[in-house]
Amino acid sequence: MKAKRRVGILGATGTVGQRLIHMLRNHPYFEVTAVAASDRSEGKRFADVCKWKLPFEMPESVKDMTLYPSKVEPGRPQIDCDIIIASLPGDIALESEGSFAAAGIPVISNSSAFRMHPDVPLIVPEINPDHLDIIPYQQKKRGFKTGYIVTNPNCTTIGLVMALAPLHKAFGLEAVMMTSMQAISGAGYPGVASMDILDNVIPHIGGEEEKVEEEPQKILGKGSKTKLTAAPFLVSAQCNRVAVHDGHLESVRVKLKKKATVEKVIEALESFTGLPQELKLPTAPVRPIIVRREQDRPQPRLDRDAENGMATVVGRISKDTIFDFKFTLISHNTIRGAAGAALLNAELLVAKGLL
Ligand code: NAP
Repeated sequence: MKAKRRVGILGATGTVGQRLIHMLRNHPYFEVTAVAASDRSEGKRFADVCKWKLPFEMPESVKDMTLYPSKVEPGRPQIDCDIIIASLPGDIALESEGSFAAAGIPVISNSSAFRMHPDVPLIVPEINPDHLDIIPYQQKKRGFKTGYIVTNPNCTTIGLVMALAPLHKAFGLEAVMMTSMQAISGAGYPGVASMDILDNVIPHIGGEEEKVEEEPQKILGKGSKTKLTAAPFLVSAQCNRVAVHDGHLESVRVKLKKKATVEKVIEALESFTGLPQELKLPTAPVRPIIVRREQDRPQPRLDRDAENGMATVVGRISKDTIFDFKFTLISHNTIRGAAGAALLNAELLVAKGLL
């Protein structure tokens, strides 16, 4: 069996970076061999600068690692690894992630920087693994030799698109309306000030609505070796920050092209499965979508951890008076929405022989 691939984590000290480090402990394909963060942290010991916020011990294997800079630059220490998983602020990710891909290292990115670039695949392994076929074109276009960039969606998009995928396949989507109630961990640490979020709801998350209004169409669109074509339906999103620690709850309404019934919608959602399940990838949920029949589910505390935080839990499915159907879903933002999404992408790349 091939030795474990060496993973370098950019943004390792952050909310998503910590999740990744936890999820990668004892992983069958990967081991964390390098960690990087901002210039403030460079050269320091991981355990001395990381404000560890997970309710699990920091793995011993990373405690004594020295933090690298998060980009490849002459004269600075450089990570040597087989794959980079990056969880950096969007504004610096473009230069940073690009520098690693140009240096020959495949990059899996959690940030928004490259998601909508026409030659960069935006992957949800259950939905569009075929979009990886564009990688050779990306490498040729950008002059990357062995490096490339693969992205995963925004943490609100992913729960939505998981539920939309089986409906699009069975009935065709015409229009989608989504209102989110998003957890505070989605803003990273320290995130929203406690005095702003306690006893409150904030009806604005910078750039979020724009991302949710364009990413689903790219993911549900057609892939080829040279082009990714967006699916032709509209999404309208309103995003709110609420005083929940983890888990984005979303109220969704859909207009479909073909006629359906509540029973048929439930059947499409419950039977949804994809390549990660077929390949039994280590981080893949057995049931990617779980449908709950109780009147008052899903709820963040009760449902966000379903399938180790990798499932989308859907409930309250009913007919809508204006659109065709409405439902509520929850998805764990730092697991399925970030660290788990990136890790499942990395596992898919191994399974496809791209790593
Ligand atoms: P975070 O908790 O604020 O962590 C940010 C990380 O980036 C830290 O490791 C920080 O290092 C590093 N960093 C900050 N400024 C930097 C710079 N100028 N150069 C290099 N590194 C820098 O944020 P997060 O929640 O983990 O989010 C990281 C990325 O993932 C963002 O793009 C975010 O949009 C995306 N994302 C987050 C979630 C979520 O649920 N939180 C979900 C999906 C996607 P220091 O410790 O040295 O400051």
